[in-house]
Amino acid sequence: MCGIVGFSGTREAAAVLIDGLRRLEYRGYDSAGIAVADGENINVAKVKGYVKNLAELTHDGADIKGTVGVGHTRWATHGAPNDINAHPHMSSDGRFAVVHNGIIENYALLRQELTKKGYKFASDTDTEVVAHLLEMYYDGDAKRAVMKTASRLEGSYSLGVICRDGRLFAMREQSPLILGLGVGENYFASDVAALVPHTKNVIYLEDGEFAELTPDSITVYDVRGRAVDKPVSRVTWDVEAAEKGGYEHFMLKEIMEQPACFKATVEPRIKDGRIEFESFELSDEELHGINRIIITACGSAGYAGQVGRYVIEELCRIPVAVELASELRYRGPIIDGHTLLIVISQSGETADTIAAMRECKQRGARTLAIVNVVGSTIAKLADHVIYTWAGPEIAVATTKGYTTQVAVLDMLAIYLADRLGLMDKERYDKLIEALHDMPGKLQRAIDLNRNIKKLAKRLCGHNDIYFIGRNLDYAVCMEGALKLKEISYIFAEAYAAGELKHGTIALIEQGSLVVTLACYEPLFEKTMSNIEEVKARGAQVLAVSLEDNRQILKKADDFILVPRTEPILNPIAEVIPLQLFAYYVAKERGCDIDKPKNLAKSVTVE
Ligand code: GLU
Repeated sequence: MCGIVGFSGTREAAAVLIDGLRRLEYRGYDSAGIAVADGENINVAKVKGYVKNLAELTHDGADIKGTVGVGHTRWATHGAPNDINAHPHMSSDGRFAVVHNGIIENYALLRQELTKKGYKFASDTDTEVVAHLLEMYYDGDAKRAVMKTASRLEGSYSLGVICRDGRLFAMREQSPLILGLGVGENYFASDVAALVPHTKNVIYLEDGEFAELTPDSITVYDVRGRAVDKPVSRVTWDVEAAEKGGYEHFMLKEIMEQPACFKATVEPRIKDGRIEFESFELSDEELHGINRIIITACGSAGYAGQVGRYVIEELCRIPVAVELASELRYRGPIIDGHTLLIVISQSGETADTIAAMRECKQRGARTLAIVNVVGSTIAKLADHVIYTWAGPEIAVATTKGYTTQVAVLDMLAIYLADRLGLMDKERYDKLIEALHDMPGKLQRAIDLNRNIKKLAKRLCGHNDIYFIGRNLDYAVCMEGALKLKEISYIFAEAYAAGELKHGTIALIEQGSLVVTLACYEPLFEKTMSNIEEVKARGAQVLAVSLEDNRQILKKADDFILVPRTEPILNPIAEVIPLQLFAYYVAKERGCDIDKPKNLAKSVTVE
């Protein structure tokens, strides 16, 4: 949520900053702005809307001179998305400019205090207090002003600060910030996507740390201002991974990458026919001691968890609860040392998930994180981490992030069941073989559904769509409906097919579109009955079923086919056509697919 960039070098900063903002725009696109110091003044340009508006306004940065600067792309929390509330924000004396990701929770009190002292506020943002605090605390030493300011702030923030004289600082508290080491120039950004065009050598800041960047050096300080030695990490992916590569949208590119991402996530963890995780060392005693699993996450990651719940319960016979992180954190969760908490987050920076995790850890849970971003907060906090190797995910609506999370959960379920002695060798070997075959099946799930574009054209006029299914199909319904909501703005909701008759069926009328997932064969006949029920009330049915089970096709008005895999792995193949359906429906409706309204990726605020 919100992208921050910073640059200190000897060439013009503005173009570098704008390019960085373009690469971070998926994090927020309410407004964009830069502030660049030329040694005497800070030159600011900011504007409502996309980074391209900022590029137009500044002639790709050519109008804004100076070699040190900060940039911001906003997802508004405090104050409307307009030119004035756009970052950077300036101190009244023009000495400091600030960009901020997060929320300053005590901003109202600070604003009151500063107003009393005569500071005039130009914007409605929480962020502006930071600029005035810097001015108030400045006594000739910018580093001291930065530290004193930080000591007054409550909440979550990553901050970029430039001074008129060209000094550049970055601070981090519960919000991502990564430093990039170049040659004769240095950088910071909210995400490595903005750093990889320049350098692969990065430093991950910890909460409470701040850094000063010059063209030749990066110095990291702890909260008391003492220099700390930080390890330099190397980013493993190339700049092309975060570019569209000929696709019209990142989302489509990422849908198409799923067979490869599945392979990258699963194959390295199967050695000699056995699943091995790099960081999940549990003794037999510890393993048998787990009597409960809680999966906590937000959005699609939570829906991946729903799939995980069915699979883990079926294979491991351990009770699993899937809990929304934003609820769990405030519920005084009942947890003990026998609880395994599985935390799922693509970015590893989801604020609600981090808070829920901290709460449960404190209560004694052992924590296992499933995240995509190396070095992220959740990865660092967890006792064990299993990375998804999906590569950078740029589209706001997740696709490959979700399917690789489900892949890890499936592997985990198989691994645990085996270690608990609940799976015979024959079944284990069959599942391993099925995992090897999956990339081909996922490709087939794409190839089988080349007609989805046409289907989307025909069905895109519906204003509400129901998704129904049972068991694993129901779990997939949740993700299918969310995809459609997120990018096409159609009201779509998932219902357990058996639950429909207990209320929601009252909404079904002539022409209602009901997407029915029927890949979970043990309950196939039951789902068929639910199809009859909605059809009897005039519904139009789009059925999603296994390609060799054609029984349903006679009943359905339209269909989507899914290749047959091992039943517990079906959801991964099943969701792909639903992603494509959402994509093409959104396209038909003229929506901005990679930047859906009101949303942003990596939700780092509450
Ligand atoms: N809270 C700040 C604002 O609303 C920063 C939001 C962001 O992270 O983009 O301006």
